[in-house]
Amino acid sequence: MTAGPVPLPTPQTAPFWDGTRNSELRVQRCRACSRHFFYPRPICRYCQSSDLEWVTTSGRATLASYIINYRPLPFFETKEPQVIALVDLEEGPRMVCTLIGVEPRPEAISIGMALYVSFEERGDQMLPVFGPVEVRNK
Ligand SMILES: [Zn+2]
Repeated sequence: MTAGPVPLPTPQTAPFWDGTRNSELRVQRCRACSRHFFYPRPICRYCQSSDLEWVTTSGRATLASYIINYRPLPFFETKEPQVIALVDLEEGPRMVCTLIGVEPRPEAISIGMALYVSFEERGDQMLPVFGPVEVRNK
């Protein structure tokens, strides 16, 4: 369990958080243009259709960019450097997340590396995180 702020689901984001509690990374998909997007919103970011559905992603992604944060974040107990990443999901959307399972050194991290989602407990929520090893969530 990681200490830190606990996300508060809203009606718009509840399907996402229901997914993470079931070890599923869900994003919205537009039925009109078939594209996926994240973060949650009421209309498609590409074609403005409101004919949307929630789908479960493969959990596979590649690393688009990252920073190594050496300053403790407010409200977080950990003093270890954190790798904060932009990851591109196989389905297309780009997400901000924490990288786990890597040494927080540039030599150990490469742009384009394959990543897999897993989930970390935070309060009564589960947060998606990504790492280089596929974790079989229950
Ligand atoms: Zn669309």
